[in-house]
Amino acid sequence: MILRKFEENSFQCNVYKEMYAKQSLEFRKTMIEKYSNLNNGTYSIKEVLKLLDNFVDPSDPDVSLPNSIHAYQTAERIRKTYPNDHQLQLCGLIHDLGKILYKFGEPSCAIVGDTFVLGCKIPDSVVYYEYAVNCTADCSADYAGELGIYKKNCGVENLNISFGHDEYMYMVLKNNKNHNFEDKYKNMIRFHSFYPWHSNGEYQFFNSIEDEFLLEDVKLFNKFDLYSKEDDLEMLCTVDVDGNYVIREEIEEYYDNLIFEYFPEKLRW
Ligand code: FE
Ligand code: FE
Repeated sequence: MILRKFEENSFQCNVYKEMYAKQSLEFRKTMIEKYSNLNNGTYSIKEVLKLLDNFVDPSDPDVSLPNSIHAYQTAERIRKTYPNDHQLQLCGLIHDLGKILYKFGEPSCAIVGDTFVLGCKIPDSVVYYEYAVNCTADCSADYAGELGIYKKNCGVENLNISFGHDEYMYMVLKNNKNHNFEDKYKNMIRFHSFYPWHSNGEYQFFNSIEDEFLLEDVKLFNKFDLYSKEDDLEMLCTVDVDGNYVIREEIEEYYDNLIFEYFPEKLRW
């Protein structure tokens, strides 16, 4: 199966068009200011998972399942390969919870889609480059060259990456202190949509020495995110009388326990 095949005149195409038009350094700054205080409510991990029962990612050509199912699928795939790495499994379960931004009224172009760096030239390998090339002043071809406003090897954590569910979820994990989820896993979530960097080999000149390890972590995670979209469904869920997918009880219970271990309290969002 060919994954990530992006076609013209599709939903995906429109999301990307809007994204390239709207995302800028200023936009990112505004969004971070708006959301870093986490004053949009207090929810448990489980509650947010449930809220994503009705959300299908419009930027993803490979998925037509609710995001909550994708969450359990990703986690279960990780569990098969890494049965003892509980935080990596949780990473699978929670990596897309930042899509709750959709409940807060944000448009798709501020939530989903591959991310890219603002404030420097945009690489021509990005999805729908034809719409990116003349995007905002912050990533157009003549914006101060490859390095733009950054220094070589400045570290990816110091880049202004287009805002979306990755950065938002990272802020939620970083700014809530009442959990035991480690930095390594927070970072895997933070950069999981940064496809130009983790899958296309772009922006490597920004890497610090530590980023080489981060890159390996993010690549490892991506395998499970990408290839877990439509397969293994029967093992994961049953279908109820209304045709909705319901996660099998033993699987739900397993993750309830993991959630309780690492996120014993509700988080601010
Ligand atoms: Fe995602
Ligand atoms: Fe995902």
